[in-house]
Amino acid sequence: MKCAICRRKLVVIEDVPANVCENCGEKYFSAKVSKEIDKLLESDVKVKEN
Ligand SMILES: [Zn+2]
Repeated sequence: MKCAICRRKLVVIEDVPANVCENCGEKYFSAKVSKEIDKLLESDVKVKEN
């Protein structure tokens, strides 16, 4: 997997299912993690509405 911005190789962050570009610092989460983050954001919004 390569950075979409600068095309450098991504490095894996330990203990986190994500990759980060060592050149520009752009972070890439897996699709699964992105969904989990969406869930957290959605639940947070619902709590605020209540
Ligand atoms: Zn980059």
